[in-house]
Formats: sequence, C-alpha cells, structure tokens
Amino acid sequence: MKLKLSGVRVRLWLATALPAMLVIALLVVGFTSQYGGRMTEALKDRGAASARQLGSAAEFSLFAGDQEALARLAEATMRSDVQLRGVIIYNAQGQLRAAAGKMKARAPRLDGAVQIVQSKDALVVSQPIYSTATVPMDDVYAPVPEEDTRIRATESRLLGYAVVEMSLEVLAQQRRELLIWSLATAVGGLMLAGVMASVLADLVSSQIGRINRVVELVGEGHLAERVDVAHSGILRPLAVGINAMVARIATTQEELQHQISQATQELRDQKEAAEQAARTDSLTGVASRRAFSEAAEAEMQRALRYRTELSLLMMDLDHFKVVNDTHGHVTGDAVLVSFAQTVQQLVRKVDLVARLGGEEFVVLLPNITAEQATALAERIREAVHNSHLLVDGKPLQFSVSIGVAQFDRRELSLTGWMARADAALYRAKAQGRNCVVLEEAEA
Ligand code: GH3
Ligand code: MG
Ligand code: MG
Repeated sequence: MKLKLSGVRVRLWLATALPAMLVIALLVVGFTSQYGGRMTEALKDRGAASARQLGSAAEFSLFAGDQEALARLAEATMRSDVQLRGVIIYNAQGQLRAAAGKMKARAPRLDGAVQIVQSKDALVVSQPIYSTATVPMDDVYAPVPEEDTRIRATESRLLGYAVVEMSLEVLAQQRRELLIWSLATAVGGLMLAGVMASVLADLVSSQIGRINRVVELVGEGHLAERVDVAHSGILRPLAVGINAMVARIATTQEELQHQISQATQELRDQKEAAEQAARTDSLTGVASRRAFSEAAEAEMQRALRYRTELSLLMMDLDHFKVVNDTHGHVTGDAVLVSFAQTVQQLVRKVDLVARLGGEEFVVLLPNITAEQATALAERIREAVHNSHLLVDGKPLQFSVSIGVAQFDRRELSLTGWMARADAALYRAKAQGRNCVVLEEAEA
C-alpha cells in the first residue's frame, strides 16, 4: 500500500493549525466583546458623574434663580468632557434654565429619579437636583414635635434636573478600531500559525516520505537500504526500529539462502554420488553394466562415423562356484576384486572394463581389431592364471575364459555383438576353460 504523502501533509497541517486558529478566534471575540462592554459601562459612569457634578454645582444657582451662573456651569461642564454633546439644566417644573452644546436625543423623562437612556448614538443621563438645605430659616426655631423635626431635617426639595448627553460616536469609533486591531492581530496570528503548521507538516511529511521510500525499496527486495537516522528528526526511534528490522530480515534471508545453497549442494552431491554409484560396480570399482551399455553405444556410433575398429572381450571366471563353495563367499569377492585389478592394469585408459554381473566381465576396446583384442585377451588370461590370492596363508589360483568379438558395422546392435562374444566365450568354456576364443569368422 502506498502512503499518500499529500494527504498526510494536509492532515498534519490541519491538526497543528486548527487548534491555534480556534484559540486565536475565541480570544479575539472574547476580548472585543468584553472590552467593548467595559467601554460602554465606563462611558455611562462618566456621564452619570458629569450629571451628578453639574447637579450639585447647579443646586445653589437653581435655588437662587441665577441664570448666568447656570449657563456658565453648563458651558464649563460641556468643556470638561469631549464626549459630551449637550448639557441642559431644567428647573423642577421641566422648564429649561440653561443649555450648552447641542442635544440630539429626545429629552428624558423628568420624574425625580436618575434616568440613563442609551440610544443608537447617544447616552442621556438625567440627574434630579435636590436642595441639601431645604428647611427655611424661620422654621428652624418653630416649636415642632420631635418626630416631625427629624423628618423635616432630612427632607429635601426637588430643584430641577441636570441632563447630559454623551456621544456614542467616539465609542463606536473606538470599538471599530478595537475590532480592526483585533482582526489584524488575529489574521497575523493565523498566518503565523499557518506558516508554522506548514513548516511542521513539511518537516514531518518529508521525514515520513524518506522512511516510506526505504520501506518500499525493502519491499521490492533491496535489503541493503537503510533509513537515514540523522535526518529523521522526531521520527528517529521509528527509523532506528525500521533499520533494525530490515537488518534482521537481511540476516535471516542470508542465512536462509546459505541453508538453501547448502541443501542444494548436498542434493547435487547425493545425486552425483548416486549416479556415480549406478555407473560403478560397488565391489570391484570397475564400470557397471549400465555404464558399459552407454559407453558401448557411444563407441559404436563413433566407429560407424569414423570407420574405426572396435572390439569386445567377454570374460567369465572358471569354476567360480567351486571357489565360493570351498573358501566362502568373502574369498569369492576377494577373487573378483583381484581379477578386476589385474585386468585394469593390462588395458589402456581409453578401454572400459565393466562387470556385467556375478563373475562375468567385459572389456570395450576402441580402435582395436579382433586380432589385437585376442592378443590382449591372451595377456589377461595369462596374468590371471599366474596371479594368486593368499587364503589362510596358502595361495589360491584361479583362471578366466575369454570370448573375443569385433564390432560388425552391418549389425548395428549391441545385443547381437555381445551375443557373438558370449558364443565365443561359451566355446572357450567348452574347450576346457582358461583359454581365449575369437568369434568364428562368418562364412
Ligand atoms: P563356469 O566355469 O562354467 O563358469 O562355472 P562357474 O562355477 O564359474 O559358473 P556358475 O554360473 O555355475 O557359478 C557362478 C557362481 O558365481 C554362482 C554364484 O554363487 C557366484 N557368484 C555370483 N555373483 C557373486 C558375487 O558377487 N560374489 C561371490 N562371492 N560369488 C558370486
Ligand atoms: Mg558365469
Ligand atoms: Mg564362471
């Protein structure tokens, strides 16, 4: 399965950038709403304070009906705060006594209580003005009931209203600025978060990419590939683990290959040994009947093609049964081995000595005429006759009868050729054994 690195990059980017973006957005929204609310509250407090201050300052002038002083107070109040749009002083009956600036909002209800009315672009505060010393001078000394005096002493009279209008435009402007500033900060923060996330995603995805490439190559069989641990960053433990795994796979594969080649070699050796065994007579070490047949067929082909001579000796030990019966099978085997060695010493390298079975042997003689073969057979017969085996310290002699036949190009059959040699051997036996007989020439 191929790892889609672009997908991994996007997911990594989202995983790192999204939380940062969310936090920044929440901070901006929270900050602007809370700060905006506080600004409005502060403005209300300021308006209320201005109205209260004007109210207490205007108390005496209202009481005294000093219009000029009231106008001055209104002007002074107007100048005290840039956000004040208008200032009005009413008397208790709601008649205008002094004004400064220009009020835009509707006049508030004048009902003896503090009114704060907020509209779209203005905040109007109406502060009732009460006299703090309301008891008339001549009444102070009048005999009144005790409880009545207490009431009178705290009683205050409504003199009028101080009304101020604060402009909310500046506040709105400040809010706008705050929002723009917050947005700018948020965008900057988001961009920074995005860039950081992108760098992180690039870094991790390139590290994953490198590891992925090595894993793919290893999958394709390149077991020498390794992840560059130095450049794997935070994925270093993964890279080290993968390298260790690949190294183990490589070692296992090497061991397996070694075992396989060893097993293959053993099988080949066994096969060769088996073939060699099939081609060799285990007792005497000369060629087997099968090896002889193959070699004879090949030599027949060669003799046909190059018109060369080819002869065959068919040999059978005389009275071998007697040897076995008299001296035992083991001695019989020793005689067979000794006979084979004698023959082998007398023939050329190109000649092939083989055991057909029992005490019957053949010699294949390339480039040898029947006459030359007969001479060789005679030498063999004589050597065998003159050899002996020591059995229980006493010499054991044995002899061989040999039939000789030359390959006949017209016959083309190994069986026929061997039958002719066998017939010659039969005649040798019949002639009293320990002799060589050449096949009878055809009439
Ligand atoms: P002849 O002169 O007519 O050939 O007489 P022979 O006794 O040699 O012939 P025969 O065929 O009667 O006997 C062959 C004997 O060879 C019989 C068998 O027990 C013996 N023989 C065959 N193979 C082996 C062998 O591998 N080892 C031993 N020790 N004896 C064998
Ligand atoms: Mg025999
Ligand atoms: Mg025999």
